Amino acid sequence: MARVAVLGTGIMGGPMARNLLRAGHDVAVWNRTSEKAEPLGEEGARVESTPVDAVRGAEIVLTMLADARAVEGTMIDSGGLDAMPLEGLWIQSSTIGVPATERLAELAAERGITFVDAPVLGTRKPAEDAELFILASGPAEARARCLPVFESISRGHVWLGEAGLGTRLKLVVNNWILCTIENIGETFVLAETLGLDPRRFLEAIAGGAMDMPYAHVKGEAILNEDFPPSFPLKHARKDVALILEAAGGLELPLVGATLQQFDRALELGHGDEDMSAVYYASAEKAGARS
Ligand code: NAP
Repeated sequence: MARVAVLGTGIMGGPMARNLLRAGHDVAVWNRTSEKAEPLGEEGARVESTPVDAVRGAEIVLTMLADARAVEGTMIDSGGLDAMPLEGLWIQSSTIGVPATERLAELAAERGITFVDAPVLGTRKPAEDAELFILASGPAEARARCLPVFESISRGHVWLGEAGLGTRLKLVVNNWILCTIENIGETFVLAETLGLDPRRFLEAIAGGAMDMPYAHVKGEAILNEDFPPSFPLKHARKDVALILEAAGGLELPLVGATLQQFDRALELGHGDEDMSAVYYASAEKAGARS
């Protein structure tokens, strides 16, 4: 059993910490808004009031924070990295993009900390069910040291090579899924504009090669106009921008259009809803809803 500190107990970090507790680890938690960490105290976690207090004495630190700014603020500006025991292990699971991952890997190496880039696939429910899939990368010898955490929160992992490759694969997967959610929203609005109930579209693809479970799950949210956040739209927007940043000179017109749609949905006030609320960007243009 390991001494683990979890920094960030939001939609994903909260259940990840809970599953570490269930697996019998000694868990310290910190969250900027302390009320979100306190329920974990009732389940056996030590709730700390600063990142430094949380990581002190931890063999493994797991960060699951909103974005690069949050991770840098917590681990660098607030002293989390400096307070980690020498030869500690830092598993960085927030989606922060390639340049920030490389920056943090370097800073960790300067401090003698082993850095593992380990973004995750799966959303609120898989996090609750310990069914995430981890895209890990870092020094080969770190893999065995990650297992106590990985086995407590996931259904499996891939180990891709040097740190940064996990984040690259995460961006590739998110490219697929974020353009897909925009496509689902547009397809629903097209159906409505042509006088069709979008349910007819779902029925038409059901069970065939064109079908995907995602269309039904996210389609249901759109049909009910009920978007409890599994993956908040504001974080999805961040990831679209990270994809474009990583792509550099490569032209990705579909991703550019998707970013505009996420920006519009944010302007319309849907940032804290599930990313499927990107539907409203198309609905507004069609004069349907906003
Ligand atoms: P979330 O519920 O919004 O949690 C974000 C966490 O970051 C909260 O603990 C929040 O603290 C903290 N935070 C935000 N800004 C901060 C700052 N400036 N300084 C310190 N802490 C800050 O988001 P989430 O869904 O758990 O996502 C966490 C990460 O996982 C993101 O990088 C996201 O892209 C990635 N991810 C999410 C999913 C998903 O489906 N949800 C799936 C895979 C990966 P407060 O509570 O104080 O706001």
